[in-house]
Amino acid sequence: MLVNMNQMLAMAKEKHFAVGAFNISESNLVRTVIEAAEENDAPAIIAVHPTELAYCKDDFMKYVVARAGNSPVPFVIHMDHGDSIDSIMRAVHCGFTSVMIDASHLPLHENIEKTAEVVKYCHMVGVSVEGELGTIGDTGTSIEGGMTEVLYTDPEDAKKFVAETGVDTLAVAIGTCHGLYPKGVTPKLRMDVLEAIKAVVDIPLVLHGGSGNPDSEIAEAVKIGIQKVNISSDYKSAFFLKAREILSQEGSGWDPNNIFPACIDAGKAVIKQKMELFGCVGAAKYYRDANEPQWRQELN
Ligand SMILES: [Zn+2]
Repeated sequence: MLVNMNQMLAMAKEKHFAVGAFNISESNLVRTVIEAAEENDAPAIIAVHPTELAYCKDDFMKYVVARAGNSPVPFVIHMDHGDSIDSIMRAVHCGFTSVMIDASHLPLHENIEKTAEVVKYCHMVGVSVEGELGTIGDTGTSIEGGMTEVLYTDPEDAKKFVAETGVDTLAVAIGTCHGLYPKGVTPKLRMDVLEAIKAVVDIPLVLHGGSGNPDSEIAEAVKIGIQKVNISSDYKSAFFLKAREILSQEGSGWDPNNIFPACIDAGKAVIKQKMELFGCVGAAKYYRDANEPQWRQELN
């Protein structure tokens, strides 16, 4: 079933679990995410970055919408780091149920203005909106771009941003980075910053760059109040590690159905472990019990 992010995360907040958002850009990764969720009877968010949509093309999303929509477990189809009204409208046109507008590189008042505009348009068609405040770091290995420093989210700014934009969820910068961390670098999350934001903001909070962080820190962040954790590199690296192993074997051939099933299994194992960590295994039943929510219902 398809739901928007409000419907997905309101339940997560009520029942105290988080939902993973996993980036996809082709059919084997879609299968990895959807089948892991179904095998765990867990909700999941299918995330597509504008560069991933540019790669898989708009028509591919018809398959994703149909496959996720026909499933007994709930899915959100979410644009990750939408960067313009154009990219947001393209996502809405493709059937996404949720978008992120990332204007976090702009001064606060411009970020508010741009995000509020996206909220106005998306709420007209029942699509939820995630905003971002602060700067999530970058290890330089992800699709989001080059190496950058973390700029922690200011709690007072967060309060103002949420009130003035009407966003449904907020991505906060508390010390994670996009991509995989270089050897020897261990990220340290600022739980005090998260607690301070949580104290003044009532909407669900989002943790980007969730790959490569110690399980204990992610679990603690979920306990404090993170409802969505973005995972991309962790499960894709397991998928491609297996692909490299198979392709390096003599006689591995060239048929996708000989190569990819084991890669899908390797990716699924990582996703399932994350779902355990987020506490959402078996949680799909809550959504089924809630009268089959229609994702195009009115937002607040
Ligand atoms: Zn991100």
